[in-house]
Amino acid sequence: MPAPKTPEAKAEWKRRIRDAHVGMRGHHHSEATKKKMSDTQKGIPRLWLLGHKTSEETKRKISEAQKGRPVPLERREKLRLAQLGKHHSDETKQKLRASHLGKKYRTPSPEARKRMSEGQKGKRYSPETRAFWSAQRKGEKHWNWKGGLTPLPDKFRTSPEYRQWRKAVLARDDYRCIDCGERGGRLEVDHIYPYKYFPRLRLMLENGITRCHDCHKKTPTYGLRVRNYMKTHAFAS
Ligand SMILES: [Zn+2]
Repeated sequence: MPAPKTPEAKAEWKRRIRDAHVGMRGHHHSEATKKKMSDTQKGIPRLWLLGHKTSEETKRKISEAQKGRPVPLERREKLRLAQLGKHHSDETKQKLRASHLGKKYRTPSPEARKRMSEGQKGKRYSPETRAFWSAQRKGEKHWNWKGGLTPLPDKFRTSPEYRQWRKAVLARDDYRCIDCGERGGRLEVDHIYPYKYFPRLRLMLENGITRCHDCHKKTPTYGLRVRNYMKTHAFAS
C-alpha cells in the first residue's frame, strides 16, 4: 500500500501501522525470521526513501551506533579491493590523520599475544605466496637497501681478470682489512678510484684495497655515496 499523499492522512496511516505493531513490543524476531524478512526485501528498491533527507540528528545517531562495531571480514576485503591502486585525496588523508591523532595503540597483552600466536600455529603458506613475499623484500625493495655493494656488473665480477686482480690485492694486503686490521672474515676488495668512473684503473693492483665488509660500508665511495663523492672531489687526470 503506498503512503497517502496528504500530511494528515499520512500521519494517520503511520499511527495505524504503529498500533498494529503494539503486540510486537518487547518481542524479538528469531534469527530465522529476521533472515526471511531480510531476504524478501533484498533487491527491492526502497522507493519511500526517494527524496527523503536524513536529518543531521539522525545521521549523528546512526554514526554513533556504528562506532566501535567491527567491520565484517568479507566487507573489509571488498573495501580493500576497491581501494587497490587508488590514492586518498588530500582532504581524506587529512581526515584520516585527524581521526588517528591522539589514538593510543596499546601493545597487546601477553594473553592476547599468546592467543594470536596460537592462531598462527600450523598455518602454512604456499610456496608461491612465500616466494612473492620474499621477492617483495629483496634487493632494491628491501627497506635497508643501500644502493648495492660496489656496482660491478656480474660479467666483470665473474671474469678471470677480475678474480686474479682481487686475489692479488688480498695477497698483497695479507688478507687484512686496511682500516681495522682484522684478518680473514668477510673481506672485500675495494676500488680506490671508483670502478664506474675510472675504467682504465679497474685492474690495477695499486687501485685495489682490502677492507672487511663493515669498514667497506663506511667508506665515502660505498654504494650510492660514490655519486656525491665524485661531485665533491676533484681528480687530477
Ligand atoms: Zn675492517
